[in-house]
This record gives sequence, structure tokens and C-alpha cells, in this order.
Amino acid sequence: MTKKERAALAAELLEKEYPEVKCSLNYSNPLEMLIATQLSAQCTDARVNIVTEELFKRYKTARDYADADIEELQDYIRSAGFYKNKSKNIIACCKRLVEVYGGEVPDTMEDLLTLAGTGRKTANLVLGDIFGKPAVVVDTHCIRLSNRIGLTSSREPEKIEQELKKLVPPEKQLGLCHRFVYHGRAVCTARSPKCTECSVRPACKMTGVDKKFTEQPQKAEKKKTEKKKTEKKG
Ligand code: SF4
Repeated sequence: MTKKERAALAAELLEKEYPEVKCSLNYSNPLEMLIATQLSAQCTDARVNIVTEELFKRYKTARDYADADIEELQDYIRSAGFYKNKSKNIIACCKRLVEVYGGEVPDTMEDLLTLAGTGRKTANLVLGDIFGKPAVVVDTHCIRLSNRIGLTSSREPEKIEQELKKLVPPEKQLGLCHRFVYHGRAVCTARSPKCTECSVRPACKMTGVDKKFTEQPQKAEKKKTEKKKTEKKG
């Protein structure tokens, strides 16, 4: 199987397993999406959703954040971690939105990357989910799954982004990344991937996965019995 075929099969199998997918952060407009994604660095989406419930009631426009009292903003976002840095970035980012983009979130990678606290992951998520553009969102799940499946051997987000862009058609890219997150949480977890019951297995090289996770239970059991027999004989 070529890498392209592997990617197509993995995308097809994942699509069957998770037909409906969406970003697990709550937001109702581009600005909220941008802020929620910035808060999600080193924090779970579930925690971000708790934080933004109150935050989005208090701050509604880029101008609100740009003029925010930093200590008050920090109180709202404290439990998302790294609140000092995040609050500084949110204010700086929104100041630029007001000054350069008329308070709107821009829709190109180039412009998004000029905003404080906005890296390629955030920019891609905004481009894909908000503006419906092709986007490869490389997070921890995408790094782990694309390596295990055999689509890349790199751990560098930007390299993985470029590689996946070559392997996956533009209209499938964002969906695949969202599905990596779903599958990475439910089946292909970091510590104990459930390879024996995984629907993506026909497409997967299981690179770097310990054999105890990849072998069928009967096979593993048989091996154990054989080992015991040999030990007894010895
Ligand atoms: S077969 Fe294993 S390594 Fe491959 S995607 Fe499934 S759980 Fe992950």
C-alpha cells in the first residue's frame, strides 16, 4: 500500500466510524473560536468550555478584550492554566484585530499568524472550521495517529502538516484531523491503544506500538501458554 492509499483507507474507515464530527470547543463566532483555541493550549477542551461559558458573556467583541483590565481577564481564565501569558496574548491579539482588521478575524494563514498567541494549529482550526478552507490541524492526537498509522515518521507539526497536505485531498483534510482526535481519545490512546478492536487496523502499520496491544487476545494467550510449557520443561 502506498502512503496515499493508506491515507485514503484510513480516512474512509474513520469516516465510517465517526460520520459526524466537529471541533469540541464551544463557540458561536470567529472571535470566540480564536479565543477558545488560544485558551486550549496545554488545557483540555472540556475545561476551556467551562471557562468560556462565563468569559464569552463578559467579553463580546475584539474591542472588549483589547480594552480589558488584565487582572479581571486573568480571573476569568485562571483555571485554563498559563493564564498570565494567555491573558497578555489575548489582549495583544485583539488590539491588533481592532487596529488592523476592523475588529474582525482575518481569513488567511498569513494574517492569522501575525496575531499574538496564534500558531499554525490555531490558524488552521480557524481557517477550516470558521472559513471552510482546507486545513490540517496538527495536535497531539494527529501527531500520534499519523505516526502510528504510517503516514509520517516526523514528530514536527509543520512537517506533518505539509506531508498530510500532500497525501489527503483538500476537502478531506479537516475532517480527518477531527477524526484523529475522536479516535485518539476513544481507541488509539497514547498509553494503551486498542488495536485488536480498532476499525482503522486494515490501514494501520501500528508503528511503534507495543506487541501486547497489537496481538489478537487468542494469539497472546497461546503465546503465554507456550511460554509456560517451555518454562516447565526447562
Ligand atoms: S490499529 Fe492500533 S495503532 Fe493503529 S489506529 Fe488502531 S489503535 Fe491506533
